[in-house]
Amino acid sequence: MKKVNLFWHRKDLRISDNLGLKYASEKNSKVVGIFCLDPNILEGDDIGSARVNYMIGCLQELANNYQGLGGELLIFQGKPQDIIPKLAKKLEIERVYWNLDVEPYARKRDEEIINLLSAENIEVCTFWDQLLHEPWAVLTKAETPYTVYGPFWRNWVSLEKKDPVSKPERLWGLSEGEIEMVTSLGLISLPKGKDLGFVWEGGFVLSPGEKAARERLDYFCDSLLSSYDENRNFPAVDGTSLLSAALKFGTIAPRTLWQRTVEELENTQSDEGRNNIIAWQKELAWREFYQHCLYFFPELAQGAYREHFKNFPWENDEVKFKAWCEGKTGYPIVDAAMRQLNETGWMHNRCRMIVASFLTKDLIIDWRWGEKYFMQKLYDGDLASNNGGWQWSASSGMDPKPLRIFNPASQAQKFDPEGEYIRQWLPEISSLDTGDLVTGKILPIEAQSCGYPTPIVDHKTQQRTFKALYAQVKG
Ligand SMILES: Cc1cc2nc3c(=O)[nH]c(=O)nc-3n(C[C@H](O)[C@H](O)[C@H](O)COP(=O)(O)OP(=O)(O)OC[C@H]3O[C@@H](n4cnc5c(N)ncnc54)[C@H](O)[C@@H]3O)c2cc1C
Repeated sequence: MKKVNLFWHRKDLRISDNLGLKYASEKNSKVVGIFCLDPNILEGDDIGSARVNYMIGCLQELANNYQGLGGELLIFQGKPQDIIPKLAKKLEIERVYWNLDVEPYARKRDEEIINLLSAENIEVCTFWDQLLHEPWAVLTKAETPYTVYGPFWRNWVSLEKKDPVSKPERLWGLSEGEIEMVTSLGLISLPKGKDLGFVWEGGFVLSPGEKAARERLDYFCDSLLSSYDENRNFPAVDGTSLLSAALKFGTIAPRTLWQRTVEELENTQSDEGRNNIIAWQKELAWREFYQHCLYFFPELAQGAYREHFKNFPWENDEVKFKAWCEGKTGYPIVDAAMRQLNETGWMHNRCRMIVASFLTKDLIIDWRWGEKYFMQKLYDGDLASNNGGWQWSASSGMDPKPLRIFNPASQAQKFDPEGEYIRQWLPEISSLDTGDLVTGKILPIEAQSCGYPTPIVDHKTQQRTFKALYAQVKG
């Protein structure tokens, strides 16, 4: 099987607008696509059922799309370091293609595989597909990486973006003889999530796969984008794209999204309309900012960026942590958000900020506990964005305003004024007066009769304690 290219899908579970796959299939080269169920990832302590089941759904659709183009997606179970070099050798593969990733584990793994393939004289071709700009393309005047979002955005948005790329005209599979040859390397049929030990019955706010991502993008641009900036902070409103998991698993490409925003800008006359589109572009840039940060500062994955947070005297009370995880803190907006996370594997961005601030500043618990819990629960859980979001909330990260403390009551008053979101996720208190529900000032006797907890901490006291601890470490 000479002159065949292997394409290794990782965080790019799509055939449309896939840079690496496009180049692998150029000049009508034969391309065989593979995906590895990597135990280093699936057996990690930061993995969860929602995300694994979502990924399996995406792989199912990808496999169907391969068949639609005359090919077959090969699924292997095992470490890519063990599988890919041997597979490439057995199939006499000419080149192995993949799209790059910023995560420290992925980079180390890829380097090992490149060395093993080079030793066999097999060429490796890699591409930055999940970013609009390679990390080193967006640097300060001093040629250093950005550590503050504002100037990053200004530079990033001014750079010319690549257009979407065409999808391959056809794809390939293996003959029966070849399948026999490589089965021992871990070739399997696509398992269900439960076969891998991950049961998830919660459904998903966005269905897995390319088709659902494209349909949601169309709906979002046609119906929601024109009021994105107004609506994006209200968790009871369907006001955001819900495309985070599609970006995480690469069922849609950032190029496709960007091109769509450019078209929308061209068709918009009003300043207000333009502001809404730019507000969404800025969110896409936050995603890239955090990926660039992780690329240049891989140590972010281990702990705080800011020096004085490295040995912060967190209280780390396990009982309080459990109450936070279960949505039983007695702060309605926090509890509603945690219940949404536990039941759907997703949480609105405003609420992610509120619960993260509450865990770190009110419960004085190490942000890494929350970061890990989010990764175990979120179906869009992504190391760069999650770590970035947690470090931003804890004030330990790349953020020029060091002590941002959210008041849960005023956040709820502002962003869930009618208590719609709170009522949706906390049915036990849904009949209470809206004012009490939103401010969390629920009489103990009422809380007791609803089976709802009284607040486990006092916000004002905890705020003072946190500030004092912060002053101590800073001093
Ligand atoms: C503590 C915390 C943890 C988070 N963990 C994750 C995570 O694991 N995975 C994840 O994708 N996002 C994470 N975010 C960012 C953000 O909450 C989600 O991307 C967003 O809620 C997804 O909803 P959406 O797709 O409707 O977003 P939209 O508002 O439609 O935004 C469009 C896209 O921009 C990106 N984006 C938006 N806001 C951010 C942001 N603040 N940081 C990085 N990217 C952003 C996402 O890819 C998103 O899909 C986290 C934020 C916080 C505060």
